[in-house]
Amino acid sequence: MNLTNFRFETDSDGIATLTWDVPGRSMNVITPEVMAELESVVDAVAADAAIKGCVIVSGKESFSGGADLTMLQGLRDLYVGLAKEQGEQVAMQRFFDESRKLSQLYRKLETCGKPFAAAVHGVCLGGAFELALSCQLRVLSDDPATRVGLPEIKVGLFPGAGGTQRVARLMQTGDALQMMFKGEQLKALPARNMGLVHAVLPREQMVAAAKEWLLANPQAKQPWDDPKFKLPSNKVHSAAGMQIWPPASAIYRRETNDNYPAARAILSAVYEGLQLPIDLALKVESRYFAKILRTKEAASMIRSLFVSMQELNKGARRPAEVPPSKLRKIGVVGAGFMGAGIAYVTANAGLEVVLVDRDIEAAEKGKAHSHKLVSDQIAKGRAKTADRDALLGRITASADYADLKGCDLVIEAVFEDPKVKAEVIAKVEAVIGPKTIFGSNTSTLPITGLAQHSQRPKNFIGIHFFSPVEKMLLVELIVAKKTGDKALALALDYVRAIRKTPIVVNDTRGFYANRCVGNYLLEGHLMLMEGVPPAMIEAAGRQAGMPVGPLSLNDEVAVDLALKILKATKAQLGPEAVDPQQDKLLTALVETHGRLGRKNRKGFYDYPEGGPKRLWPGLAEIAGKRLDPESVDMAELKQRLLVTQALEAARTNEEGVVTDPREADVGSIIGFGFAPWSGGTLSFIDNMGAAAFVKLCETLAKKHGPRFKPNRQLKRMAKTGESYYGAAARKAAGEAA
Ligand code: NAD
Repeated sequence: MNLTNFRFETDSDGIATLTWDVPGRSMNVITPEVMAELESVVDAVAADAAIKGCVIVSGKESFSGGADLTMLQGLRDLYVGLAKEQGEQVAMQRFFDESRKLSQLYRKLETCGKPFAAAVHGVCLGGAFELALSCQLRVLSDDPATRVGLPEIKVGLFPGAGGTQRVARLMQTGDALQMMFKGEQLKALPARNMGLVHAVLPREQMVAAAKEWLLANPQAKQPWDDPKFKLPSNKVHSAAGMQIWPPASAIYRRETNDNYPAARAILSAVYEGLQLPIDLALKVESRYFAKILRTKEAASMIRSLFVSMQELNKGARRPAEVPPSKLRKIGVVGAGFMGAGIAYVTANAGLEVVLVDRDIEAAEKGKAHSHKLVSDQIAKGRAKTADRDALLGRITASADYADLKGCDLVIEAVFEDPKVKAEVIAKVEAVIGPKTIFGSNTSTLPITGLAQHSQRPKNFIGIHFFSPVEKMLLVELIVAKKTGDKALALALDYVRAIRKTPIVVNDTRGFYANRCVGNYLLEGHLMLMEGVPPAMIEAAGRQAGMPVGPLSLNDEVAVDLALKILKATKAQLGPEAVDPQQDKLLTALVETHGRLGRKNRKGFYDYPEGGPKRLWPGLAEIAGKRLDPESVDMAELKQRLLVTQALEAARTNEEGVVTDPREADVGSIIGFGFAPWSGGTLSFIDNMGAAAFVKLCETLAKKHGPRFKPNRQLKRMAKTGESYYGAAARKAAGEAA
């Protein structure tokens, strides 16, 4: 056998070991070459009488992350090309045949007549876990890093290489559905307890145990290939089945709001598949898989949440000519809510941190936040006491600016007050070296204005984190008029070091993310003032695919903050820059009723001690009117909530704030949870088509006001049929030529 992605050897007992070790990659992935080689191994094992069984292991630190998603993207392109050249039917047949190859390969493996075992250490996800599921024995290492799961739903897909059928034949149906709907990763012991794997052993004992089992069970078959096989939750059409399927549909709705075709396909494939013998069931799964792979949702989610995100993480926007930065020591000024979080994520990445505040008590309080966060990790068994000591040892709390000397980067997170910021900039620049980069975490003040207080505006950049810092993956880097390439490169290197995803935006009020999400809040506020029942507004937000409704979100970020931003906008841009209805609502909530949001347990919601939050009944009084729920068009509410954000993203694109659709899309999903099913704000428009989007905006503008008026660039795109990604691809091709 001519293998490059595997090593294959057989011991004196006739048990083969197949070591998966894709050259030049840190992680094994399933590619067409891997599939072809695995097939030749299966043929060889089946044909060689001297081989009694085969154990599959990884030659890397982890087992495998699954299939190469760009391979699946390529399949879609193949379909489009064939459909053009040879017609829909030929294209569809070929697409179906290609998209089920992995499923057929795994079926061949499990029915080749010789038993296979998977010995798994580290992560084993997606298509790789489906490979393990097709082995007659699955052994996991007891290491905390070992995890198995089927996360395909997170990129708009579902397990299409037998996963839906095998998992549903190993576990209770409800558990199997939940696992696939959520894309959960399971640690070794829970996986064993749920019946997904057979044994959990120390890493060094796995292979020997698997070999012993293979020797003892040369005729081993999968349970579903035994004629006496019974489903774990009994037949679909049975009394037990009646307990499962009606609630399963309800759970599906609750978890997905019917926004994810892949989740619906999981439900259908399992429901139909469990009523069929395994080979037919796998074919049913394949049909759904081919259908889902062609959806806009899958294509957009793979693009944004996998491909683009990886590209941005690897520095797609980094000025190439600047050599990599050597980051060692980072200063954080302002140890409040944000500064404390920034200090934690920085120290957690192994960097030294100097955390400065006005007095040592405030600085120590900020450092204590890190103590709390690691202690929480220790309580969950995810960190050790030694990790906490080491992390805290990297943070120096101080009230003396002189301690910032020697920092490679200083980030300020002091009060949102231009005067305070100007003072801090001067104090920091008095002690740092000429090459140190200065980053401001301001959320509302234009960076170019702040940079005027700097002696070295080339070194000045916006580094905008989202709260809570330790959870939110996005960091917006704001390039001001005079920001230099070195500052941008170093800021990107820093974001990479702390394992977050950067987007690079040009300077404007609200930058990118807050402009879009600000519109989401505004639309919720205006609906409320129109008399839409608040519960309907909240439901519309969630049903559109947002993680929370606009009123809940406003409570989380604080209602008084929203009023403060509104007042600042009014003071700087004039009264017509704000909506009087929003002004009235926020002023009444904050100034008349003292409702500041979740932080004082009173906002759009009441937060009773020990009970669930409830919408505050006084909202109706502020609105002054209440529409009959029957007269409210839910579909339109959903449209308004998404269109207003996508349209703002379109404006930022035309203004040159966000220049790359990948950044607009990724930033919108991980920054403010914009309906992930859509692939992000600009994919939302591209998928609808500019012409249809413009038409929708115009209809909404007529009914609800000029804030929905489409911008000029969009109107032009509607005429020419241009798309954001089409234009970006052409631009990239032009640059390459
Ligand atoms: P905060 O009030 O919790 O913390 C500010 C800290 O700065 C306080 O500890 C204060 O003592 C300290 N400080 C004030 N003046 C100082 C000085 N001269 N020298 C040293 N320290 C000083 O505020 P926050 O919510 O952490 O916000 C900080 C910055 O981050 C603001 O610019 C804000 O706009 C921005 N931001 C906030 C959020 C958010 O969700 N809160 C999100 C993104 C960005």
